[in-house]
Amino acid sequence: MKKRILGFALALIFTTAPFSAAYALFGGVNRSASDDITAAISKGFVPADLQSDYDSKITRAEFCRLAVKWLEVATGRTINGILAEKGLRRDNGAFTDTSDSDVLAAYALGIIGSEAASTGTAPERFNPAGQLDRQSAAVMIRNICKVLGLETKNPPPSRFSDAGDISEWSAAAVDFCAAAGILERRDGLFGPLERVSRREGILMLHRIRHNELAKAGAAKPTEDWSVPVLMYHCVEDNETNNAFYVSVADFEAHLRYLYENDYRTITMRELTRMVTSGEEVPPRAVVLTFDDGYINNYTNVLPLLEKYGMSGTVYALSFYPGWACTPEMLRDMNRRGMEIGSHTKSHANLTKLAPEEAVDEITRSKEALERVLGIEITSFAYPYGAYNTELAQAVKNAGYQSAVSMTVGHASPGQSLFELRRYGIYKGDGVERLKRILENKPPA
Ligand SMILES: [Zn+2]
Repeated sequence: MKKRILGFALALIFTTAPFSAAYALFGGVNRSASDDITAAISKGFVPADLQSDYDSKITRAEFCRLAVKWLEVATGRTINGILAEKGLRRDNGAFTDTSDSDVLAAYALGIIGSEAASTGTAPERFNPAGQLDRQSAAVMIRNICKVLGLETKNPPPSRFSDAGDISEWSAAAVDFCAAAGILERRDGLFGPLERVSRREGILMLHRIRHNELAKAGAAKPTEDWSVPVLMYHCVEDNETNNAFYVSVADFEAHLRYLYENDYRTITMRELTRMVTSGEEVPPRAVVLTFDDGYINNYTNVLPLLEKYGMSGTVYALSFYPGWACTPEMLRDMNRRGMEIGSHTKSHANLTKLAPEEAVDEITRSKEALERVLGIEITSFAYPYGAYNTELAQAVKNAGYQSAVSMTVGHASPGQSLFELRRYGIYKGDGVERLKRILENKPPA
């Protein structure tokens, strides 16, 4: 793997053609606003007190709250986790007129500036109760996309007939939002100073679909990456010969080795986001995965991961057997930085089910886990690693962004994101084997 520079500021090259494709994906569907509002609410990013009065004007602080919640839903992380990942902190003294934690988070992430940027008033004021105009909203939306690595270079000009009224500081953001179908077009007019309603604010965020931007060619997928994905099951001291039980001491030795050798754990969700958005995958990235969602993932794995500042992806079953984590445990793990993915409802071998039953396992487990966790579930693991081309397509159609198998090897661009390889880690596997895996040598 080549040496890479970490960072979220990416230069993605846009051409007109993929942008029209992106626009078709976003704007080509004629759905009523209320359907879209319902869909936005079901994604989980609209706070309860903003789920009414859709014609009222949204305030600057309210839009920050929506943006922060949207980022949490989109990334599956808490806002504190997102800030920590980027080494950012809220500056409590940033503004004299607000200490709202979402406003300060949005400021730290570069989503908002002070009001001065647009109005020339005192720089330390944010004006939280002020209304938001369309051109300021466009700037914020583009900044939110930047947080996810979807920054764009040279979007095609939006050609609104009132383009002359659009301020210079917002022109590029307006072009970006228009090309990506995030802004409504109204008879060729943009209306830069019109105030944004609650409905519009919600829908603008709802229309950011970074995967579809990526698919439409807006983001160029990263092509140079190779990441070892480790598959654990139980981490528990167990006297039997059951190969799925890795001892607590062995597991901690693995983490210590990763820690001391500068490996960085990322979740499967982060890996797929990096790859599809064109972001560089960090050097020495490794993904720790835990299949079946055993209670020991909560009691033994989570505290050790926290001790080393690491995270991982737990693939849970949505029928919650007695030996597995309860919904409360999954929620707590997710709050504390773990990703929860789906491993079907019942752990059936999908290749042995009728196609409609397999689709049911794939989609219902996603919905059930999303209800429990209040975030989008984007990662999937095939029970027994058993899959075929049709199943990989079904997982993709269900809205997941990745799926892992049990085929041995590094996950890399040679594989579809729905057929990613992993290395199984079993009882007695020590640091020596881990080392061989990480170095991509055939495991001893
Ligand atoms: Zn399993």
